[in-house]
Amino acid sequence: MKKVRIAIVGGGLSGLHAARLLELQGVHDYVVLESRDMLGGRIASIDGSGLSSHYLAGNPGQFDLGPTWFWPDYQRQLHRLVEELGLERFAQFESGDTVVESSATAPPVRVRGYMNAPASMRLIGGMNALVTAVRAGIEPERIITGQVVRSLRSEKDFVDLTSVDSAGRTSTWRAEHVLLAVPPRLAAQTIGFEPPLPAPLADEWNSTATWMAAHAKYVAVYDTPFWREQGLSGEGRSRRGPMVEIHDASMPGSSAALFGFIGVPAHARKTVDDDVTRAVCRAQLVRLFGPQAAAPRTDAVKDWAREPFTAVPADLAGEAHHGAAPSNMASSGRWHGRLIGIASEWSPQFSGYVAGAIESAELGLKALMSAMTETAGREAPT
Ligand SMILES: Cc1cc2nc3c(=O)[nH]c(=O)nc-3n(C[C@H](O)[C@H](O)[C@H](O)COP(=O)(O)OP(=O)(O)OC[C@H]3O[C@@H](n4cnc5c(N)ncnc54)[C@H](O)[C@@H]3O)c2cc1C
Repeated sequence: MKKVRIAIVGGGLSGLHAARLLELQGVHDYVVLESRDMLGGRIASIDGSGLSSHYLAGNPGQFDLGPTWFWPDYQRQLHRLVEELGLERFAQFESGDTVVESSATAPPVRVRGYMNAPASMRLIGGMNALVTAVRAGIEPERIITGQVVRSLRSEKDFVDLTSVDSAGRTSTWRAEHVLLAVPPRLAAQTIGFEPPLPAPLADEWNSTATWMAAHAKYVAVYDTPFWREQGLSGEGRSRRGPMVEIHDASMPGSSAALFGFIGVPAHARKTVDDDVTRAVCRAQLVRLFGPQAAAPRTDAVKDWAREPFTAVPADLAGEAHHGAAPSNMASSGRWHGRLIGIASEWSPQFSGYVAGAIESAELGLKALMSAMTETAGREAPT
């Protein structure tokens, strides 16, 4: 059994941000346990050749399969982090007409586009640039990927964690405190807690949908933004589908691209092969933007509903609105001060957003510091 002071479960943005903050505060006795082979969680991208990839400095050619936008005017903590890390940002391209398919049979029509205010902002290198920059502040040996945390058992002074790797090997960890950087519903339904979480807390976590877990995204990468030459913004709206909402995903200094949210419900997508989805998405882009859309340099579909480390069956129906944040800690009992939720859904202001992962991790760190002080007080000799 390995012993650490703090175990962070989940290596998405919230878990990595918490780890970086611990490093900055001089706390090095921790581990990040991540189930997937790659870090970033819901933040994922492909490069110009269609490979899943991490952002490499100097190569902005990354196309988001997960989040794309942030709003620095009111997401101030995320804005400060982006500035501190020296990441470059730019506004979503929206100049030009939008193409609309208003029914399954009507031909697409051009309508005057509009600019969102405040503008939706993007990062050079995509959201993976943020993951890469945050990760650079963490000692690599403190991050262990390919470790699925299966159970947490709380004793009086510590928590034992059991994880399993892809070969089925089990590891155990003893930590004084656990930061849970896994979405609340996913944690409540896939991790065993002993003793069980207090029932009201478990109910809150279970009823918090994981934001965007029901969604799928299609991305097509091109050599040139040919739609812009026709006075089109790359925006599309469609009642015919399969994509319901399409946007320009081009990256300054790199390739042109379009992306769309697929409107087919998650349960209906289950039986459809990705090659078929890509083919019908390409056909839709041809209808909307012309024949040049038929031959992207590469294209990809990412169905988040099929990701076992993001979605559970209860998420497949989807959520139309961001929910209220559940409590991030038990108010009393064995789990109080030992287990603190820090994934985005626990954020009071930006539950489910990238900015929420930052807010939640920062609030979780504050709660952790006071829990550590409380624990030290209890353990000090009188
Ligand atoms: C298609 C899509 C589009 C989006 N668009 C936007 C957008 O434009 N703007 C915006 O602000 N937000 C957007 N979001 C939401 C944004 O991606 C999330 O809010 C953010 O990435 C959440 O980060 P997180 O670290 O809290 O959670 P996650 O990224 O979900 O990280 C959780 C991590 O825990 C790991 N994990 C799960 N179970 C275990 C286990 N048992 N043991 C160990 N590790 C485990 C997972 O593999 C994952 O790495 C979008 C999301 C999606 C999917």
